[in-house]
Amino acid sequence: MAAKGFKCLAGWVFFISFLAVSGYCSAEDFKTVEVWKNLFTVVNGDGVDSNTTFLVTRDGVVVVDTRVTPNEAEKVLAEIRKQTNLPIVYTINTHYHGDHTFGNQIFENSGAIIAHENARRSLLGDSGKDYLNSFNSRNIHGLDKTIVTPPNMVFKDEMEIFLGGYSLRLIHVRGHTDGDLFIYIKELKTLITGDLVVYRKIPDMSDAYVEDWISAMNKLGNLDAEIYIPGHGDPGGKPVLLAMKHYLMHLKTLVLNEFREGKSLKETQDAVRPVLMKKYKGWGNLDLLDTNIQRAYLEYSLK
Ligand SMILES: [Zn+2]
Repeated sequence: MAAKGFKCLAGWVFFISFLAVSGYCSAEDFKTVEVWKNLFTVVNGDGVDSNTTFLVTRDGVVVVDTRVTPNEAEKVLAEIRKQTNLPIVYTINTHYHGDHTFGNQIFENSGAIIAHENARRSLLGDSGKDYLNSFNSRNIHGLDKTIVTPPNMVFKDEMEIFLGGYSLRLIHVRGHTDGDLFIYIKELKTLITGDLVVYRKIPDMSDAYVEDWISAMNKLGNLDAEIYIPGHGDPGGKPVLLAMKHYLMHLKTLVLNEFREGKSLKETQDAVRPVLMKKYKGWGNLDLLDTNIQRAYLEYSLK
């Protein structure tokens, strides 16, 4: 047991020092990081900074999220080909948002593109179109090549993939959207969280469920994991999860305090915004604070 524990610890120390030495934490360039043996995360890139993760097994590759354009997805494919020529057996979308699915067409010939059933429905419906339109207005290079390509395999609550000595549990929760999934790889004690966790960035809550999201954080926290790979931002240990959970709980508490005193949405935003702005001043996307407060205010006003 001691030897096993040491091996684990040594791996973790290596992981931390690799991040420090590579300058990965501060770089904004497209980059592939070997997070753990055979597990790689592509971070940053052109236009949007969503993460893509791939697992190389002896029987093929699993890709999680396909980035924002076919161009970006092709870059991921090139990164995979640096590691292996084995086929891509499964592609997984953690949720429907375009920065995680608009490269799907490049992986169309993988064995399956898997997502929660609500993610497929959103991508096929108005939400998918709305996302494409909102990204179009942001002038993302190569977006005009995107053909919205929905997942072709869906599930309701949970499914499990067994491939090349690994097991991947895909678990549905509602939080960031109504069709989120996260992935638990037991053999690597790793959680791939999609946008349920973003690290050192204010999350996008435009179609979020605050209370469910906090419950989802508890579900993630109950799994025996050492590595957390967020949807945006740097992978790391448990603090990556805790930072997100604390942000959500902080948002909830502050908004509820104002709401219970009968404050309007605007009064609540004016009271809560500066508190969050101060506490999270080192994080990205601070411009999203007002919509986060609004989302929480609306949700709790309906309860
Ligand atoms: Zn998202």
